[in-house]
Amino acid sequence: MIESRYIRQEIMPQIGESGQALLAQAQVAIVGLGALGSVSSEILARSGVGYLRLIDRDVVELSNLQRCALYTEEDANAATSKALAARDHLKSINSTIYTEPQVCEVNSSNVLKLLSGVDLILDGSDNFEVRALINEAANKLGIPWIYTGVLGALSMVMPILPGGPCLRCLSPTVPEPGSYPTCTTNGVLPSTTRIAATLQATQALKLLLNKPKLPSIPLKELPTTTLYQIEVWEPEFEMVTVEKNPACAVCGLHHYELLENHDLL
Ligand SMILES: [Zn+2]
Repeated sequence: MIESRYIRQEIMPQIGESGQALLAQAQVAIVGLGALGSVSSEILARSGVGYLRLIDRDVVELSNLQRCALYTEEDANAATSKALAARDHLKSINSTIYTEPQVCEVNSSNVLKLLSGVDLILDGSDNFEVRALINEAANKLGIPWIYTGVLGALSMVMPILPGGPCLRCLSPTVPEPGSYPTCTTNGVLPSTTRIAATLQATQALKLLLNKPKLPSIPLKELPTTTLYQIEVWEPEFEMVTVEKNPACAVCGLHHYELLENHDLL
């Protein structure tokens, strides 16, 4: 008898053979295939998630190799598109899954089309403007997504479910580009991005195995989610409860400022 390639996770009670079959049918969009997306897409491909939509406009550069798990010097020398290089490497890791590369930037005029039809969206972007746009699109489409941010030695991961708190409940305003620290200005460790992407991919598997239903909102109790923060240099793990803000522009009032203003992005 041939042993299943997924036997090590199928024997886990959290997954089982039935869970593995669900993963084979699951569809995930990954926005950004840099340090985060290259690790989380690899974990999902190895785990047997059946369909991955791989979205990135950039090409592989030498400075990416410090932290982007999937890529090689050959990719950087040839300036291969990240989405195409990721597709090729993921297919060589698991030829049984389907990958759909999208070489394009995500903006207000294409985001709904790019993210529609999937069960889950993973944030592998590196700026708040794209995350805020994903937040609006996911809310409008009713698709769960996982916000993931990294800076220096700090990782942040927050699952955002339809009906629950969103990114704008955590951070009500969208900061101006260039007004906040990023990995480009402040740096990042390859271990920071791996921890963040590993936690993101694990939460992704959990969500795909237990498709979230819209939470009913009790009168006195608002739904919450958890922001996980991991510091890798002086190791520390923190869980912060984030409450839904009923007056939130996006998940409370459904006012999609970025989606509706094509001049903003
Ligand atoms: Zn909100």
